[in-house]
Amino acid sequence: MQDHFARALYEMFPEPVVVVDRQRMILSLNEAALRQFGFGEEELLGQPASILYATEDDYAACLNKRNVENDPSPITEAIYAFKRKDGTVFSARLRSTRVDGPDGESLGFIGVIHDISDILKLDKARRNARKILDTALGAIPEGFAIFDSEERLMVYNEAYRRVCGPAGPFLHLGMTAADIIRIAYEGGHYPEAPLGSPLAAEWIESRLFDFRNPTGHAKVFPYANNRWLRVENFKTKDGNTIALRIDVTAMKQTELALERQRQEYLSLLQNIPDLVGRFTPDRQVLFVNRNYADFFGTTPEAMVGTDLLDHVPERMKEPTRLAFDTVLPEEGIRSKEVLHVRPGRPETWILWSLLAVFDGTRVSEVISVGRDITMQMQQQERITRQTLELQRKNDALNQFTGTVSHDLKAPLRHIAMFSDMINDDLQAGNLEDLPSYAVHLRQSARRMDRLIESLLDYSQIAYQIGNWALVPLSDAVTDAILNLGSLIRAADARVDVGDLPVIRGDAELLKRLAQNLIGNAVKYRRPDTKPVVRVYGESSTDTDYLHVEDNGIGIDPRFAGKIFDVFQRLHRDESVYQGTGIGLALAKRIVESHNGRIELDTSFTGGARFTVAFPKDNGSAKE
Ligand code: ADP
Repeated sequence: MQDHFARALYEMFPEPVVVVDRQRMILSLNEAALRQFGFGEEELLGQPASILYATEDDYAACLNKRNVENDPSPITEAIYAFKRKDGTVFSARLRSTRVDGPDGESLGFIGVIHDISDILKLDKARRNARKILDTALGAIPEGFAIFDSEERLMVYNEAYRRVCGPAGPFLHLGMTAADIIRIAYEGGHYPEAPLGSPLAAEWIESRLFDFRNPTGHAKVFPYANNRWLRVENFKTKDGNTIALRIDVTAMKQTELALERQRQEYLSLLQNIPDLVGRFTPDRQVLFVNRNYADFFGTTPEAMVGTDLLDHVPERMKEPTRLAFDTVLPEEGIRSKEVLHVRPGRPETWILWSLLAVFDGTRVSEVISVGRDITMQMQQQERITRQTLELQRKNDALNQFTGTVSHDLKAPLRHIAMFSDMINDDLQAGNLEDLPSYAVHLRQSARRMDRLIESLLDYSQIAYQIGNWALVPLSDAVTDAILNLGSLIRAADARVDVGDLPVIRGDAELLKRLAQNLIGNAVKYRRPDTKPVVRVYGESSTDTDYLHVEDNGIGIDPRFAGKIFDVFQRLHRDESVYQGTGIGLALAKRIVESHNGRIELDTSFTGGARFTVAFPKDNGSAKE
């Protein structure tokens, strides 16, 4: 019964079992052995065991292991190479048990063969993998090291050694992280690190703290000579620390260069006088420079992230919204001049340019640039005004030359006429009228002389005043009255002077103005009435007035405009009222050069009343 079980166990045993006699002749093999070696049972029974070994050396080693004569141990174990019937070789552990007879003599051996070729293969693969890993670690430029839970160096590659700088040559397995940091620090490897304790100790501690408490985020800091290192530590589940050290100098330099460029570009944007802004298509502010924010009375910080419409004045909201909503790819830059009137600020003309950046067909960003063109607009306005003024002056000049030549021709015609008459009378031998003709000739020549004199006078009064000063009109009037002394006395006139304002102007010209007006007031008197002239002033918030009023013959309101033109006289008869018709034209020119107005007050009926209005802001400050 027991035999039967033993037999079944032997047959069913999963590992090959070979039984040999003491001469190593095969006595028996189980099923597993036949399968392992690939022989039929009859091919092996009675054969020497050497047939199963891969080489004679393997067999010899086996024999050697078990020296039969003085073999103390009944069991030996060793690994040998065996050979199958098809010639293939495999490694196996042979556990050999000596079977001794009742007298102690050896009967033979039972060998249990355990195929370990798979394990060996696995081992080889593992060794290979390890070699590949080592080669790879050696080849990668990133420093790589593993520290165990006691912070002792377990693995590191060549790149790691390099980034350890002065600590590199001392690196060895088992070295602590603290030692590595300390040696590198003492070798001056960290330019940022403070020198001297206790700051040094603190710095080393902070580095160790980073090492011990990995955040999962890389830190970049300067090291060695102007280089940058990216430090990243990971803790593994089994308490090891993986240290990655990557030299990122090139990247950092590019980053720094980019940052420098960004700063330059930003400072350019901040310093140009233009208003620059970048927006999302729905007007969210991405960036505005200080000028832009300042224009809307705020700061860039307050604008970024908000809707542009929150900052533009009410009047501009709709046009702004429309501008953003209607940008088209094919349009390019859209520009518009806008006049901004803001409380407490000067009126400003801005040339707004809107440019949409397209990403395919979709607007990805809108750029808005505003340029202050107030100066140009004012210049343009000034040029337009000056052109109009020039046009007006040109017209006046044409009219002036027409009048002047006509009036100058009159005495010339007289002279020509009387010369002809003298000639005729001389030929006829009639000398009687010659003296009277000569008087006429002289009168015409004198008149011509006066006309030319007054014309010269008129033309020399400049339109623009060079010497602006504060002039009390009372001074100008007093001087004028002094100059008119003989005329006033001859006419036995009275000149009453009331309160007069002080205005900005040219003292000499203002005196001439007063002189012309007062002179006319005395000159155009009624023959039967004692001339009384009133000169007085008046002031409103923005205008100073000068009035000159007389009790003379007055002026027909129909000629209220005409009398201010050159050579326009209402009295042709020089024997009664002498004059050249220049006085009022000159007065008008003087008043206009003070940016004022002169007119005949047609509502006044007791004589003539001239009113001169001087605006208080007469532009003198800008000259
Ligand atoms: P003039 O006095 O040399 O004739 P003005 O240009 O001074 O030239 O005056 C133009 C004309 O206006 C005068 O000829 C005169 O007919 C009229 N006029 C000017 N001032 C007065 C005045 N105060 N009263 C009446 N008529 C005046």
